Order: sequence, then structure tokens, then C-alpha cells
Amino acid sequence: MSNLALDSNIIDQQWLLIQENLHAKYGDNVFRNWFAKLSFSGYSNGQVVLSAPTRFVREWIINNYVATIRQLWQHYDQRVITVEIEVDNQSATNNPINATISLPTQIAKVTQEIDQEVRSIFNRQAALDEWVQPVDNRYTFNNFVVGSSNQLAYTAARSVADNAEPQPGCNPLFLYGSVGLGKTHLMQAIANHLRTYSPERKVLYLSAEKFMFLFIRALRDKNIMQFKENLRSVDVLMIDDVQFICGKDSTQEEFFYTLNDLIENKRQVVISCDRSPNDLAGMEDRIKSRLGWGLVADVHSTNYELRLGILQSKVEELKASIPLDVLELLASRITSNVRELEGALNKIIAYANFTGKAITVANTLEILRDLLRTNDQVITVEDIQREVATLYQIRLADMSSKRRLRNLARPRQIAMYLAKLLTTKSLVEIGRQFGGKDHTTVMHAIKQVEKLLAEDQTIASDIANLKKTLTV
Ligand code: ADP
Ligand code: MG
Repeated sequence: MSNLALDSNIIDQQWLLIQENLHAKYGDNVFRNWFAKLSFSGYSNGQVVLSAPTRFVREWIINNYVATIRQLWQHYDQRVITVEIEVDNQSATNNPINATISLPTQIAKVTQEIDQEVRSIFNRQAALDEWVQPVDNRYTFNNFVVGSSNQLAYTAARSVADNAEPQPGCNPLFLYGSVGLGKTHLMQAIANHLRTYSPERKVLYLSAEKFMFLFIRALRDKNIMQFKENLRSVDVLMIDDVQFICGKDSTQEEFFYTLNDLIENKRQVVISCDRSPNDLAGMEDRIKSRLGWGLVADVHSTNYELRLGILQSKVEELKASIPLDVLELLASRITSNVRELEGALNKIIAYANFTGKAITVANTLEILRDLLRTNDQVITVEDIQREVATLYQIRLADMSSKRRLRNLARPRQIAMYLAKLLTTKSLVEIGRQFGGKDHTTVMHAIKQVEKLLAEDQTIASDIANLKKTLTV
């Protein structure tokens, strides 16, 4: 089978996704009047050819929609560079436009024939196997680091993996949280666990996008019974990133039926989403409510300790040697999500391998300068307390304690001084964050530090360094 035919087949399938997108974007009327009349005609060398029934439709599409179609397409496949509209052969004999496109049309005809053949092979093999995305064995429960932000989601996922049938109140399991916090990791961990310990149970993991793709393809190929059968034959169905099908009416309806059937038959369903069921705008109410019937577990953003734990576990896994202060720097500064944190770690490891240099705080700051800058949020009093505590090797809790030992009081004063300097907090608020101290205490601390700055070289340079780390 030639590459040309294969490409054309893939692009043809994407046309269905594009149509669904256009439908959602422009609504029933526009869709029926214009887009439903277009059909896929061929693809080669970055050029998609769609076919319109009349010249009028062709021109209307070119004048109003072709740019959008091209953009949507590029979203799915960057190979697509232009989208051409031809007028359907039969309704347009002797059409001058047609003369210029006769060659692509011919190619399209040939590819269409091959394409049909490819499709019939697909149909014959429309067994579950073809759907199964390979399980990513990098993601397991073992290498998932648990903290308070993901405890519930982790426990629930484990319970799904450990129990032979859905537990009451846990079906569906709905995991939600913003991007990069481990939802896909947990789903893959369920799949990995079951594959190892309960290989007799059929597990199907699908991104919502793939679910939609398979559904539309089944519709097109008049294969919907097979589609339904495939889905209903599994013991555990996982649909990742379900927000994707919001606003896609027919897909979400089919999803709803699948969900109901499986749950009724005591099969486990696990869903992930970037927001809670209630916040799914564009999802039908009955579906939202159905999604919330089981166990809804949110994954919150990570805290410092969890981020440090994740870094340590990755370092161990990669057998890299990275000083603790570098890990602490990453954990305190890259707070947006775990994927970025891992990316940063990989980057400094790659740098060390490449240059043969040891990793230090200084070169980490250099290597990750841009990433750190984009992660920089407003500096908080807690950031300052943490940096100062680390520098003077005291516990974070000592920042708020009442103990007056000099080796605790001095760092505390420095932190108060920096808090006034680097945040917009008032003296009263700062005092509150240091274990409820009076604002006069904060004032006194600031005066004290200002005096020391002039007198004590070491303290002056400590403070300069702290400022640098906090504000890079
Ligand atoms: P999501 O699906 O929520 O967007 P992912 O599951 O893709 O996020 O996680 C992003 C990356 O972060 C993955 O490489 C994953 O292994 C890692 N990750 C997230 N949370 C944890 C955790 N608690 N322990 C270990 N790795 C994690
Ligand atoms: Mg994910």
C-alpha cells in the first residue's frame, strides 16, 4: 500500500473530526447548508481537496469558511498546508474551473479506490484490538508519589485496580484537576496493574478524542453495532480528558449510553477531566449529573513537599546525581505542574551529560532561566521564609515560633525585612504570617536588619544572595 494512499486515508478520517468541529462551531443550519454538502476528495503533498456539489457552494465556502477549515485541519495535522475545493465532476462538466483541477481529481479518484480497500480491511478487523492504545508502562502506582493533594484520587484508583468489581459509590470514578497533575498517570497505572495482576479482565483506555474518532468512523462505515459491542465487552473502561467531547452532541450522547450500560452491568468506568462535572459547560445536564453519581476525586495543585518528593523519586529512577539544593530550588520555583517539573529535571540532567559538568544551583539557574521566569509568580511571604530557613538551616516552623534564640531570631528578622521589601504586604499582615507577631515587632526587625546591613559583611552578602534567588 503506498504512502500516498495511507496519508489520504488518515486525512479522510480527519475530515470527520473537522466536520464535527464545524458542526459545533456553526450550528445545525450552517452545517447542513454548507459543510454537510462537502465531501473528501483527496490529499497529496500538503493539499487537501474537498469536493462541493455546485460552483455556488464552492465559492461560498472559499469566501467564507475555507480559512477556518484549514486552521482546524492544521490543528490535527500539520502536514495540511492548503485546502482546495473542487466542484463535483458530474455536476460540473465543461466547467472551466474543473479543467485546472483535473489532475488532482484523477489522483483523488485513484486514492479513493485504494482508500476504500483500506477501509474495508479496517472494518473486517474492527475488533477491540485495533482500538487499544498501548499502555504506557512508565506509569505505575509504584512511581506515583502520594501527597495530600492527590491522596483521594490515588486511593480511589488503587481501589479500582484492586477490586474485582466496582465498589458501591465508586462507579464511575471521576478524576479531575488541571493539566499535568497525574490524572493520566493514575489511569495508566490502573491499566498496568490490571494487566499484571488480573490479565483476564478486559481493560480499555481511550482518550475522549479517540472515542469520538472511533464513534464517527463507525457512523460513517455503518458499523455502529460493532462499535457498541466493542465498548460493552470490557470490564474496565477509561476515558481520558472527557472535556474534549463537550459541545459534541452526538458523541456525548453515545458516551452517555455507553456509560449507563456499563455501570448497569457492573463494569467499572473511570473518567478524567480538567474540571468538575458541574463545570462542564456544553455537556448535557443529565450527563453531568450521571458523571457525579459515583466517586468524584479532585487532584489539587501540588505543594512544595510533594514536588520535592516527586523530584527525588525521579532522580532515583534515573539514577542521576543531583544535589539536594538544586532539587529544592526546582521544587520551590517550578510550581505550575508536574510535567514542567519533570521537564526541568530532564533538561539539567541532559545538560550535565552533555557538558560533563556537575549540576549546581548556579548553572541550574542559568539553564532554566526562561522556564523559571515564566513560572515566577508574585513572591509570597512563605517563599521568603522558606529560602531564609534553608539558608540558615532552621526549620520553616521556627519562622513562626516564639523562641527568641539568637540563631532563630536573626533569620526571622531577615525574613521579615525581605517580606517588607519584596512583597506588598503591610507590617500587620507580615506579623500575622510570622505566627501572629505584632507589627511593632516587624518594624523593629526591619530597623535591626538595616543596621546590620551597614555593619556586617556576611549578613549583607547573605541578603544580597537571598534577594537574587527570590527574584531571578
Ligand atoms: P494529567 O493527565 O493530569 O495532565 P499526567 O498524568 O500526564 O497529568 O502527568 C504529567 C507528568 O507528571 C507525568 O509524566 C506523570 O508521570 C508526572 N506526575 C504527575 N503527578 C505525579 C506524582 N504524584 N508522582 C509522580 N509523577 C507524577
Ligand atoms: Mg492527561
